[in-house]
Amino acid sequence: AGAGLEAVGEIRWMRVNTLRWSVEQAVEWFEKGGWEMFEDVEEMLAAAQSKPKVFALDAHIEPLLALPASVSLPTMSAYQDGRLLAQDKASCMPAWVLLAPILADAEEALTNGLDVEGEEKKRGKGLRVLDATAAPGNKTTMAAALVAGEPINGKVTACERDQGRFKVLKDMLKRADAKNVQPMNVDFLSLKPDDPKLKNVSHLLVDPSCSGSGIPSRLDHLVPSAPEEEQLSRIRALSNFQIAILSHALRFSGAKRVVYSTCSIWEQEDEGVVMRVLGKKEFREMGWRLAPRDEVLPTWERRGRVEACGGDKDIAESLVRCLPEDGTNGFFVACFVKDEDAEPIPA
Ligand code: SAM
Repeated sequence: AGAGLEAVGEIRWMRVNTLRWSVEQAVEWFEKGGWEMFEDVEEMLAAAQSKPKVFALDAHIEPLLALPASVSLPTMSAYQDGRLLAQDKASCMPAWVLLAPILADAEEALTNGLDVEGEEKKRGKGLRVLDATAAPGNKTTMAAALVAGEPINGKVTACERDQGRFKVLKDMLKRADAKNVQPMNVDFLSLKPDDPKLKNVSHLLVDPSCSGSGIPSRLDHLVPSAPEEEQLSRIRALSNFQIAILSHALRFSGAKRVVYSTCSIWEQEDEGVVMRVLGKKEFREMGWRLAPRDEVLPTWERRGRVEACGGDKDIAESLVRCLPEDGTNGFFVACFVKDEDAEPIPA
């Protein structure tokens, strides 16, 4: 799925902050500084054994670069000034999965001419994204970068309930120069999904607090594939909270695409949450379903666990999982899309 077992802990993922820079400028900057570019992350890692200044373009996420983990970030001017941001590959997946189709449509509309009637909607003009659980702001700033400027000129509303973390979010917005983000120190659950001020929100990121069982510093070599007995009640409480946040997002009147993610490797917080939400009549009647694999990082190999999806292979295929052996944190991504032709929910 990723860069192979030998890659664990060897990669430093860097996202090009396209609010300040372009991928082309980044590549030029590295090459001028004597860095050698590789098209393939594994080749880059092999070359890093003998040369320290190597980097690669990621195969799945456009603004993402892979560098050897040994690279010294504080000495890199492009990191100091926020043109490059340190962000794990898995953490880049939600915003990419949420927005890649609209970016592709926008590009196509640009190529075919912008003035065609009806094209404005197609190219996502004025797109409104809402990040339900935003701090420290990695996914917020990535979404902001993807929709900023022509042709989309999109905006992001970023909710963070915790006051201390809200400050961290605002600092990150400044560092990333994310002027198209409106941060709100608010409990997402207190927003009204039918609030007329939020009716244009069509794309939502839902990355709620989780057990963090996929974060390598919390993973030892004996990490269980399921939580220990004594952790179960905490995991149950977390998954109920995750379902509440995800369900709230799916109720937004203009919502068309909602990406749910966790940095947990446990199925109770991952497939378990997805299955419980898909099982709700309310959401089936609204026309919510999972986006198929070909819209959700189709070439990423590690997908949902079939048994945890009630044996449904299609559901499992539409989900993305990451493990440290993929060269990323342990992570989970699900993308819900609303079928426009579905009957509206009865009043
Ligand atoms: N998406 C973030 C990023 O990539 O940088 C990480 C989000 S972190 C996993 C979850 C965040 O959601 C925490 O900062 C937590 O304080 C916040 N949070 C939890 N419940 C919330 C709620 N009901 N409304 C808004 N924020 C909430």
